[in-house]
Amino acid sequence: MTMTNQQVLLSSRPVGKPTTDNFRLVQAPVPAPQEGQVLVRHHFLSLDPYMRGRMNEGRSYAQPQPLDQVMIGGTVGEVLESRHPAYAAGDQVVGMGGWQLYSVVDGGAAGMLRKVDTRHVPLAAYLGAVGMPGVTAWVGLVDIIDPRSGQTVVVSAASGAVGSAVGQLAKARGCRAVGIAGGADKCAYVRDELGFDDCVDYKAHRDLRSLSAALKQACPDGIDGYFDNVGGLVLDAVMLRMNAFGRIAVCGMISGYNGEPQPMANPALILVSRLKVQGFIVSESMGRWGEALKELGAAVASGRLRYRESVADGLAAAPEAFIGLLEGRNFGKQLVKLI
Ligand code: NDP
Repeated sequence: MTMTNQQVLLSSRPVGKPTTDNFRLVQAPVPAPQEGQVLVRHHFLSLDPYMRGRMNEGRSYAQPQPLDQVMIGGTVGEVLESRHPAYAAGDQVVGMGGWQLYSVVDGGAAGMLRKVDTRHVPLAAYLGAVGMPGVTAWVGLVDIIDPRSGQTVVVSAASGAVGSAVGQLAKARGCRAVGIAGGADKCAYVRDELGFDDCVDYKAHRDLRSLSAALKQACPDGIDGYFDNVGGLVLDAVMLRMNAFGRIAVCGMISGYNGEPQPMANPALILVSRLKVQGFIVSESMGRWGEALKELGAAVASGRLRYRESVADGLAAAPEAFIGLLEGRNFGKQLVKLI
């Protein structure tokens, strides 16, 4: 019997903010897996800010998402049928299945599929704290910020998938961890449930002077490491508080993803404060994933690393949930439940 797939395609490129009209939900038959292939039923789809960049035509660190094809995306699920020796029906897997209910994947293709152990870590966590966002947090913190015990580490988008892990990993290394997040609820969660030392609500401080004063209060010894997820005004305010020889890991600049201009108010501070400012893309640090996933997996299994999820229900809800993610309507890792 032929099974029917549901898929979300990119039907047009957004100008500024994406709308649901940029996406199209279609049905298609699920092809039978050929020799060397694996058929996967997706349980959860991951929605991630990088997808906004892929929707653009222009030059970036990755190829644009082609029009009229299934949107790129991370997925977790279960193998239904395998014609590859490394996989068997019933295996739980993480992969890049895209915005659809089923995928047929080459079992040997690098980075496309990996078996996961769900005895101590929930399946969905392999898209978050024990997946790409968790590894992103680990790489930016450990390899770029390289924090010492007693230093102060600040992270923006602190309640999100990446940011929540950054602060907790910094705390585990003996640092003072300070978050920046939008709204009182997110800040209370970051402080009270994730155990950060403090959290600054950037929406309550809309200008540079006010935000940098709030950061001064939260970081009485200055800032040694900044994990930047947002860019813009927040980056400018943090730069004013950086200590000499501070490190800034430039992970994301979500405040500019819809094309908003991103001027830097005081680039001279890089010189004056002798800062190291380094951008990074987690998929270019594949040699670090093993060590990162080991620490993250153990920390989630033991309950030391906490996280929160926003779960949209059903594939048809994915476009709206993705738009919400870019506007901060998510609270923690944004997922779509598909089963
Ligand atoms: P999150 O779960 O943190 O969700 C995005 C959050 O960004 C929103 O909840 C919102 O939080 C915040 N935000 C949205 N718009 C703005 C704005 N204009 N100004 C300030 N904050 C804003 O997403 P992820 O944890 O998945 O990703 C966090 C960042 O990490 C992104 O920039 C992403 O692109 C980047 N990233 C980079 C990778 C790399 O390899 N370099 C890999 C993975 C992620 P709030 O309500 O607090 O404003």
